[in-house]
Amino acid sequence: MILVPFLADKNVMVMGLGKSGTATIRALAASGARVTAWDDNEKARAAALAEGIVLTDPAGLDVSTLDLLVWSPGIPHTHPQPHALAVAARAAGIDLVCDVELLALAKPDAQFVVISGTNGKSTTTTLCAHILKSAGIPVAAGGNLGTAALDLPDLGHDGVYVLELSSYQLELTRSLRARAGVLLNITPDHLGRHGGMDGYVAAKRRLYDLIAADGTAVIGLDDAPTRGIADWLLGAGRRHVAISVKQALDHGVSAPQGVLLEDGCEIFDLTAIQTLPGRHNWQNACAGFALARALGVEAHAIAAGIASYPGLAHRQEWVGTVNGVRYVNDSKATNAEASEVALICYDHIHWIIGGQAKEGGIASLEKYFDRIAHAYLIGDAAQAFAATLDGKVPYTQCGTLENAVQAAAARAQSGEVVLLSPACASWDQFKSFEHRGDVFRELVGGLK
Ligand code: ADP
Repeated sequence: MILVPFLADKNVMVMGLGKSGTATIRALAASGARVTAWDDNEKARAAALAEGIVLTDPAGLDVSTLDLLVWSPGIPHTHPQPHALAVAARAAGIDLVCDVELLALAKPDAQFVVISGTNGKSTTTTLCAHILKSAGIPVAAGGNLGTAALDLPDLGHDGVYVLELSSYQLELTRSLRARAGVLLNITPDHLGRHGGMDGYVAAKRRLYDLIAADGTAVIGLDDAPTRGIADWLLGAGRRHVAISVKQALDHGVSAPQGVLLEDGCEIFDLTAIQTLPGRHNWQNACAGFALARALGVEAHAIAAGIASYPGLAHRQEWVGTVNGVRYVNDSKATNAEASEVALICYDHIHWIIGGQAKEGGIASLEKYFDRIAHAYLIGDAAQAFAATLDGKVPYTQCGTLENAVQAAAARAQSGEVVLLSPACASWDQFKSFEHRGDVFRELVGGLK
């Protein structure tokens, strides 16, 4: 746990009782702050009360009595409608911050690496942490992924905190001064919360305010919004390292053909690394390389770290090979764009899809249909997806994931791939995408 002694005896309210909110309450209480909390969800409040957390209904609160308001990044405080408490606090001049800000204030001398982007944040965060750890550097990873900021361990001076930051966290963090950071990519996402694309890009650009003046700003060059930010960095005279998987860069880190290049010189081949399949993962590897270089790790040590990266569960996770058939768990692919990056990686795919459909369904994936040997449909979206596949891809209506795995195992030939990449949310049949992937892993285990 990270203590925040500078808030001892202060009146602090924590809005939002999720993982980061409850970790913040524990850290505040242990540091001697006077803490109250709230969540608009009744179940979350009941759970908090049972843990002895003091609740205060913001409806009857005089906000001017607060010294600080710690805001859970998931709750809207600007768009589409700001929460009434955020409006009242701002009117009273009360600071709104998230837990990452408290971590930065609590550890002003600590070393940080910050990672954001629309896609690939968790992979790059865990990869970067793994590279640094393999190089013998004490490291803790968390933030938007895994461990909440104030639940991270207290590292010594030579330790590095590797933080995944969402656009929401970036909006509520000010004091962090990282040694290095990367913005991987920007594609339209969460636009309602940021008042449109300009607001989303502006929130992401804030990442560079959180990098120290003598730190290293790493930036993706493969989409128009990040290229715009790279131009802005150049104009501002900021030291930066560009990364690309679309073009070989004379200056920067690139891997257009899967061979990682540093300033145009070949460093090592990424294509054989099974835990980082596909071009999108080459982008994550380029970022991990550039960040670790910024922290002084030698290229050969980074290559060794990337080669031994264990991968992240539910993101094209290889869960087994049975009778020569590879089984890949990509349960995190909850929309068509995420499934697209997986479909690009394989041929002769036995594709398990379906669940709670997102807008647009799988129509955008038609250009990859010739890679699919057979589709196995599950969940609520099955009928709609069948209509898209009809006459183009052979399919079987399976209803459940269990039936789909059995049917795919019976049909797939040695050398082919069974890919769970559902292009759908999981909530119609599972508690979460993690639950769906865990069930898939177990079912594959049962085939052996
Ligand atoms: P995030 O934490 O940003 O959601 P993850 O690392 O968890 O990203 O990856 C989630 C999914 O996003 C992956 O399963 C893959 O489909 C896709 N993805 C990962 N990295 C990238 C990337 N660099 N560019 C585009 N898509 C990616």
